Amino acid sequence: MAYDFNNVFAKIIRGEIPCSKVYEDSFALAFHDINPKAPVHILIIPKGAYETYDAFASTAGDAEIAGFTRALAKVIAQAGLEGGYRLITNAGPHSHQEVPHYHIHLLGGRDLGAPLLG
Ligand code: 5GP
Repeated sequence: MAYDFNNVFAKIIRGEIPCSKVYEDSFALAFHDINPKAPVHILIIPKGAYETYDAFASTAGDAEIAGFTRALAKVIAQAGLEGGYRLITNAGPHSHQEVPHYHIHLLGGRDLGAPLLG
């Protein structure tokens, strides 16, 4: 499916709508989720136009993939989640992906309960 350049995260990257930013570099942007599901709920997104993890991992350049991965590590370190954390990414209707721009949810700050596969 073609990437939708009017999705809300594309607009945040372009600065057309605001976000509560926690980190930014040339590859990635991280900001607080507008509807947090945990005391820490940060979204980390690549700046490139990718709808899902698999689109990103199969078509992004090596520098972009490495840069995004390093950015994610910096955001995790910056969040100071001593008790641990959970990363989630949704893709497509079965996962209930709401925003069609690849993003990783970083959740923490409390016991997150048993995971889906627990
Ligand atoms: P998904 O279901 O696509 O994995 O998650 C999308 C997430 O984006 C949701 O947790 C939702 O609360 C968040 N979200 C949707 N619109 C906005 C927005 O305009 N700003 C921010 N900061 N988060 C948003």
